[in-house]
Amino acid sequence: MGSNEAAGAVIRIRNFAHPISVARKILEEIPHLMLSGKGAEIFARLMGFKEKSPDEQHANTDNREIEKLPEDYREFVRKYSKLLAEQRIFSTFGAVAINSKGHIVARASTGGMSYAFPGRVGDTPVIGAGTFASRSAGASATGLGEGILRVGVTRKLVELVEGGQVVQEACD
Ligand code: ASP
Repeated sequence: MGSNEAAGAVIRIRNFAHPISVARKILEEIPHLMLSGKGAEIFARLMGFKEKSPDEQHANTDNREIEKLPEDYREFVRKYSKLLAEQRIFSTFGAVAINSKGHIVARASTGGMSYAFPGRVGDTPVIGAGTFASRSAGASATGLGEGILRVGVTRKLVELVEGGQVVQEACD
């Protein structure tokens, strides 16, 4: 939320249909910025969010298959890195909005990437990487999270736009 630099994020939250709304509750209700896994799910329940059965979700069968810990992790990395490089399967939703007072918000939600190593965290929940807003601009990113994280893409974009670049130039 660009007007006051407030932010909330959840990682590895399962079976809740609206993770961005849970992240917003973190922003509003507790002094933390980010919750993950079981703790995030307990928090969501406490806030009254209803769970969905996993079947109703767009569960990724490939990710489920590889959730078992690989015995030979080098073989695993070789096989899935190749698939990842070839297929580039992404699933992120992002949005930036401005209200009548000129306050800007940015948000993003993702199922992550197929063929990622179990436990991988991408850019999407990281403020300044997958999503960011200031008083004058906002951005949400999609694409290979490792690159987005290294550069802090959305914060950088917002800073470039604040510095006077037009959006397309900043993105390029
Ligand atoms: N950025 C996401 C990630 O790396 C993937 C996506 O954009 O869909 O997890």
